[in-house]
Amino acid sequence: MIVGNDPTGRIQRVVVVGGSLAGVAAAEELRQRGFGGDVALVGDEALLPYDRPPLSKAVLAGEREVTETLLRPSEWYDEQQIDLTLGDAAVDLDVGGRTVGLASGARVPFEGLVIATGAAPIALPGAPPLDGVHTLRTAADAEAIRERLATARNVVIVGGGFIGAEVAATAAGHDCTVTILEALGAPMERVIGTTVAELCADLHRGHGVAVRTGALVTRLHGESAVRAVALDDGTNLDADLVIIGIGVRPSVGWLSNSGLAIADGVLCDSCCRTGAGGIVAAGDVARWEHPTLGSVRIEHWENASRQGQSAARALLGEPEPYGPVPYVWSDQYDRKIQIVGDPSEADEMTLVDGSYEELRFVALYGRAGRLVGALAMNRSRPLRAARSLLADGVSFADATEAFNSTEVKSASRRPGPTGVQ
Ligand code: FAD
Ligand code: NAP
Repeated sequence: MIVGNDPTGRIQRVVVVGGSLAGVAAAEELRQRGFGGDVALVGDEALLPYDRPPLSKAVLAGEREVTETLLRPSEWYDEQQIDLTLGDAAVDLDVGGRTVGLASGARVPFEGLVIATGAAPIALPGAPPLDGVHTLRTAADAEAIRERLATARNVVIVGGGFIGAEVAATAAGHDCTVTILEALGAPMERVIGTTVAELCADLHRGHGVAVRTGALVTRLHGESAVRAVALDDGTNLDADLVIIGIGVRPSVGWLSNSGLAIADGVLCDSCCRTGAGGIVAAGDVARWEHPTLGSVRIEHWENASRQGQSAARALLGEPEPYGPVPYVWSDQYDRKIQIVGDPSEADEMTLVDGSYEELRFVALYGRAGRLVGALAMNRSRPLRAARSLLADGVSFADATEAFNSTEVKSASRRPGPTGVQ
């Protein structure tokens, strides 16, 4: 039951394009703020909106079905009076005419528009379309890889980013060889720095995964199905399943003739508003002016959810600068890695809690004397303190001192409910 009316008194029909986390969060926020006009959600996937993180973890491992990972049950859309159009892609946007064109030929009118089309995997340049070569973004991708994994003998993962590391951790539980190929250094090194990336590489190796760094793929061999992966040092690795995880690009093709400003994402101001009135963007597709971090685009779960809400509020005439401390988690084997802030360009780091040997610790990252990020492995609780310190914009020295204080240390010692503190 929808209560209340459109608080702006202007927009009476909102269309959300992109039926996933940011889009659903925006639609939900509109209703929670009392918006009583029409809300339509358009997505190109045929499934009800589902959650992506389990795809590389429990779904791939066969522990959960995609139907168990829906963001909201089907009846929720009826209750919230959200009109769903699924399995139909937006193909163009007419800003002046206030319509979105769909692949089916329909034109959907809007007064307010939320762009939430996320991102799509980058293909391996020059690779032929061989059977057994996959990217992982959608439920269909995860189901196809899961089926292959059941009989695969040699799994090669190209890219040591989040997808590569998580897929390796899941595949390692199967009866096959698993190899991660990373073009530069250790997995996730660009994001988390050499020290922790090397620990992660050892974690993989300890589970029987081969980690090859400085490994450039030159060719995929095979007739119709992949047979081997060739590297620039002349090695040929046997492979009957290849996962490509070399990053994503924002899904903006449908906006190419819209006139909206696009540069590695839909450009927005600090309140998620594009240059066109009544059009906002959120999630992996949005590049916005973060109040303290400058122009950023973030490809992680918490951001998509919170930015969807923020964009909806901007549409309702309640804009506020959106300036979160970025957060991401990654589950690999029995380790939970959590990162706050942006450690990627740190020039110093220090261990402030736990130990590297036990793979249970918190490390702080600094740049030019400021605290810029923190990473925890199986230590959730103290990371919260680091997040507050980041929000306060403290110096690296003050953050380190705060962690050495009795207050943070005693808070950290209380055990968490699942043993992960
Ligand atoms: P998306 O989830 O990409 O959704 C966009 C939707 O729009 C998709 O359904 C897409 O098909 C649709 N779409 C695209 N173009 C069009 C069009 N033209 N018309 C209509 N619809 C369109 N983050 C974490 O923080 N922790 C994790 O552990 C984690 N694990 C992940 C595991 C996997 C396998 C993946 C793929 C991602 C993971 N992420 C994780 C990242 C997180 O899931 C994303 O940041 C989040 O899904 C982004 O949400 P979004 O709604 O912005 O975009
Ligand atoms: P990613 O995290 O951006 O990592 C891509 C990795 O591939 C990087 O390590 C990159 O190295 C490497 N690479 C790039 N080109 C390469 C090449 N030609 N050969 C070998 N390696 C290459 O992207 P992803 O792992 O593909 O993940 C896709 C998206 O899903 C991202 O948005 C990611 O955030 C999201 N995701 C998130 C999680 C999580 O948060 N837990 C889990 C799964 C997926 P350089 O860094 O050196 O360029």
